[in-house]
Amino acid sequence: MRIRNSRFSPKSRNFAFVTSLYVDIHTHKAPGDFISPRTAGIHPWQAAPGAAAALRPLPEGVQAVGEIGLDFACAVPRAVQEACFVEQLALACEAGLPVVLHCVRAFEAVMRRLAEYPPRAAIFHGFIGSAEQARQAVARGHYLSFGERTFASPRTVEALRTTPPERLFVETDTSAAPIGTICARIAALKGMDTETLRRATVENYERIFGNGQLA
Ligand SMILES: [Zn+2]
Repeated sequence: MRIRNSRFSPKSRNFAFVTSLYVDIHTHKAPGDFISPRTAGIHPWQAAPGAAAALRPLPEGVQAVGEIGLDFACAVPRAVQEACFVEQLALACEAGLPVVLHCVRAFEAVMRRLAEYPPRAAIFHGFIGSAEQARQAVARGHYLSFGERTFASPRTVEALRTTPPERLFVETDTSAAPIGTICARIAALKGMDTETLRRATVENYERIFGNGQLA
């Protein structure tokens, strides 16, 4: 498990206020001073007929099905991606697990599939959509995660400003900067202090992944 910190009881109602850890919703860093969900999934770039069958049964300790989704900028045929995505959404629904989404130029198609197979929670990682898309996703109760790529795009900064803290996550993904630095920059763009944003992301994490999984 990537969550190693056993100081906090899963029954604690005040996790956000007793931990100083950050939540990093999607990272390629080695486990460290942050909380990150353990995921298993077939990325849309790896989608192939029957590929999702490898996820059954889900490995022990998996907290979310991900990264899954649709990427209409990549070469994998859309029908193959859609089939693989749907199969994994169905698995997440069956298992009562949240999903971590990869979505590139496929927002409407992803939203349609989420409506057909509503998982316990859906997190768009590395969100790069518009403010209008952010509003639509939040209206459906979905979560949006932002990282370093946000800073380069005025459109994504608008989307970030539209997203309320209770639906927000931050991530390092492939960036070299530590999660604390990313969190501080995201907070500044939202006009919040870093600690308030950090606590909001921990509370969001608890809401989605709680029920004893923070042990
Ligand atoms: Zn991705």
